[in-house]
Amino acid sequence: MPRILITGAAGFLGSHLCDRFIKEGFQVIGMDNLLTGSLDNIKHLFPLKEFEYYHHDVSKFVHVPGELDYILHFASPASPIDYLKMPIQTLKVGALGTHNLLGLALAKKARILVASTSEVYGDPLVHPQTEEYWGNVNPVGPRGVYDEAKRFLEAITMAYHNAHQVETRIIRIFNTYGPRMRVNDGRVLPAFFSQAIRGEGLTVFGDGSQTRSFCYVDDLVEGIYRLLMSDYAQPVNIGNPDEISIKEFGEEVLAMVSNPAAKLIYKELPVDDPKVRRPDITKAREILGWEPKISRAEGLKRTFEYFKEVVKTD
Ligand code: UDP
Repeated sequence: MPRILITGAAGFLGSHLCDRFIKEGFQVIGMDNLLTGSLDNIKHLFPLKEFEYYHHDVSKFVHVPGELDYILHFASPASPIDYLKMPIQTLKVGALGTHNLLGLALAKKARILVASTSEVYGDPLVHPQTEEYWGNVNPVGPRGVYDEAKRFLEAITMAYHNAHQVETRIIRIFNTYGPRMRVNDGRVLPAFFSQAIRGEGLTVFGDGSQTRSFCYVDDLVEGIYRLLMSDYAQPVNIGNPDEISIKEFGEEVLAMVSNPAAKLIYKELPVDDPKVRRPDITKAREILGWEPKISRAEGLKRTFEYFKEVVKTD
């Protein structure tokens, strides 16, 4: 049975990855410090002998007894609200945490996949974003703590690959959504769904003309699985190229939730908010044979079912 360490296991993506790798017949070690994650996301795994949970902050030395075949490094605050609140932890987990896990991969001769992000492209001047684009990032702006941590994560990962021949994989994740997103994480999708369900104003930042491209979590997890099993060490974009403006997105959520008390309201645009974002997924298609399968209509329907359960209306 192959053994895999998943950091950020109690988070949105980490918990879905634990589920998937258990299904694939792996022994899964989930690690988290619960800074932004929640045990609610993985409590269904606790009775399984295929699952172990370690409470640990990966910014400190990481010790895992026994053999290890794979590492997925998904620990990090990931919503703008979270990393603005926790700037130092965000920098540390992207930098020191990644260093610790690369060291562990070297010691255990494990293959490691690290989670990077479309944020490495900053407010992009090339559209859609290809992996060859170097980005337009403000290092000292509010998003710099996340963007630069992830850029460092990519740099040190390539360094371990080149200097120590560690088997490394780098995924650049574009906006992803689905069940287990935190209701109050501040990102646009949980914000809009919870506001619509409660019959409040949906807070569109700026005039809502900025765009994003939303990928359903199951599609992303499939892309991660394929990338891990591939032999490709350069960064790969994984995301859904179906681009939409935030205003139109708000209108889609309003139509789906259909609460007459809810409507769009407008708030100030945050500093350095990217104006456009859409992945070029040619590499994922050609190298991994991957493309998203779940339409936004279907993905939003499944996600609405989840938010109906977890959003408190009183
Ligand atoms: N946004 C918004 N209202 C909200 C939260 C976010 O209009 O309540 C906008 C935000 O300004 C950005 C887009 O939605 O343009 C996506 O924001 P999110 O925080 O989800 O992630 P980002 O893609 O910026 O990392």
